[in-house]
Amino acid sequence: MQTITLARHAMATRFETVLHGADAAALRAAGEEALDEIDRLENQLSLYRPGSEIARLNARAAREPVRVSPELFALLQQAQRLHAETDGAFDITIAPLVRCWGFMGEKRSNPPSAPEGPGAGWSEQKGRVPSDAELAAARAVVGMARVQLDAQHRTVRFAREGVMLDLGAIGKGYAVERATNILREAGVISGLLHGGTSTVCAIGAPPDADFWNVAIDLPKRGALSFVSAGLATSRPRKSETSLPVTTIPLRDESLSVSAASGRQFRQDGKTYGHVIDPRTGRPAKGAQLAAVVLPSATEADALSTALLTLGRAGHERIAGLRPGLKALLITGSETE
Ligand code: AMP
Ligand code: MG
Repeated sequence: MQTITLARHAMATRFETVLHGADAAALRAAGEEALDEIDRLENQLSLYRPGSEIARLNARAAREPVRVSPELFALLQQAQRLHAETDGAFDITIAPLVRCWGFMGEKRSNPPSAPEGPGAGWSEQKGRVPSDAELAAARAVVGMARVQLDAQHRTVRFAREGVMLDLGAIGKGYAVERATNILREAGVISGLLHGGTSTVCAIGAPPDADFWNVAIDLPKRGALSFVSAGLATSRPRKSETSLPVTTIPLRDESLSVSAASGRQFRQDGKTYGHVIDPRTGRPAKGAQLAAVVLPSATEADALSTALLTLGRAGHERIAGLRPGLKALLITGSETE
């Protein structure tokens, strides 16, 4: 049995994969092809790359219907369905609000070796609390109702100037899903692929176990409470700092984690996270961390963001969306 590991910097994070199989050269070739697919998707879906399909769409769709590739159209339709299913908590039109709270731009954690893409135009914004007027202006251009998808012509049209799409809450999961599909098609039956530790997909199981066990660490110390569907959790004792709250067994399943701490800023003693509640236009206050397990990494990614947004009130709704969906929510947040 051979084991290979590969890593690639993409989507402002590090993707890693570990693959087991009989033929190391074949595993490596499959792994490289899978990581190439992630690069390709970043070039297509990143709003920070001026040449990307999404950037082109954002620039033109308020003026005219813009024809997009079949795969992007399908992803936008999926995002529209997920928006409806989550009562609007997952919303890819959130971009103007993300910008207004200073979360636009790629994280500065990019290693210096990261390729200098044409996206250099978007440097990271500094988080800040917007004025009421800024907030109102941004809210006026947010909402899936302002995006028209015409399946017959495969075009996208925005209802007004200022509408902007951000696939940040679904793109990594989608990339992980596409990449693992490539691995499976290449014959890989045992492997794990993750993007920045936030979305991970397991193919089969490791050679010596029944499952891939993936641990979720506590986001922060403090008075936390847990709500879960189908997942056992253990509360670390006070003296323990960063023990996993749960270990999730994965086999042909994906796990996605969303956390306010993924990107946040503090102002006047309050903490503001990068996941915005479309209902209020303000950073979600419902939870510290949300995790969702499903076969599809794309859905797990979108639904973990929705669960973080809705908090405890939305736990049952999200957990009931798919048969077998497992979910974990950690509340007790000190965010705003
Ligand atoms: P994730 O880490 O998957 O939860 O994605 C968070 C990112 O998605 C943010 O940094 C924003 O770019 C974007 N985003 C923020 N709030 C939402 C929301 N309510 N629905 C969809 N995308 C969002
Ligand atoms: Mg997400």
